[in-house]
Amino acid sequence: MKVAYFPGCSLHSTGIEFDISVREVCKALGIELQEIEGWVCCGATSAHATNHLLSLALPAYSLALAERMDVEDVVAPCAACFNRLKHSAVVCQNAETFKKVRELLPIPWENRLRVRNLLDLFSEMIEEIKSKVKNPLSDLKLASYYGCLLLRPPHICQFDNPENPQTMDELLRVCGAQVVDWAFKTECCGANLTIPRSDLVVELTYRILKSAKSAGADAIVTACPFCHLNLDARQADIHRVKGEIFNIPILYFTQAVGLALGIPAKKLGLSRHLVSPFLIPALRRR
Ligand code: SF4
Repeated sequence: MKVAYFPGCSLHSTGIEFDISVREVCKALGIELQEIEGWVCCGATSAHATNHLLSLALPAYSLALAERMDVEDVVAPCAACFNRLKHSAVVCQNAETFKKVRELLPIPWENRLRVRNLLDLFSEMIEEIKSKVKNPLSDLKLASYYGCLLLRPPHICQFDNPENPQTMDELLRVCGAQVVDWAFKTECCGANLTIPRSDLVVELTYRILKSAKSAGADAIVTACPFCHLNLDARQADIHRVKGEIFNIPILYFTQAVGLALGIPAKKLGLSRHLVSPFLIPALRRR
């Protein structure tokens, strides 16, 4: 299967281990990722707060570039990129909006490709993934964390249940992991308030980490580089502010799947996280 790949800015910078693990796992599953040549930032953090048309045109430009490729699907692993790309594709089904956006683009755009999140794509390949598991994660208790952007608003994202999502839970179970039941799987981590309101982000991430720990999770699994950054990097601040040490590793779902497929941890970028996944004996052995 060949798909157009939109890595987004995070996967080329702070979330590079997400990109590394996406590429490794897709190779193992026979998914050919073709990065969209010349893609531009989707505008996730600020465009929609500044200019509505710009927030639609930025993703539309990358989608237009992808239409020049021989593909039917555009895949964005980042929850925020997926949300903006899909937003543009869905909102521009309105003829008047589509016309306005197209006038802003320097190249033709038909809005004919499907925008997918990688988690959604994997959920369609569950039997195939199951058949390729070589190293089941049976000694790991994992908390699947979807965050707030991956599935909301539901009329835009159009996959899974936004209140009680199951796609990641199912994927991790197929990989052999024990998936814990917890209450914070769709709570917001504070996203890009991390710089202007770090006090709020410390409070929000503290609650998420506490809930995962109470549920007995060894690690939290995410599909969003913003969530990853906040939950991983803020554990030191939580220790300073709250006096509590969590040391809970935060994994990308692609890293968990990669480990189950038998890909070595060093090829999945696990050593790049601030809270070392190798604190967990079950991960140290991989
Ligand atoms: S939880 Fe935070 S970082 Fe994650 S998707 Fe929601 S806003 Fe983005």
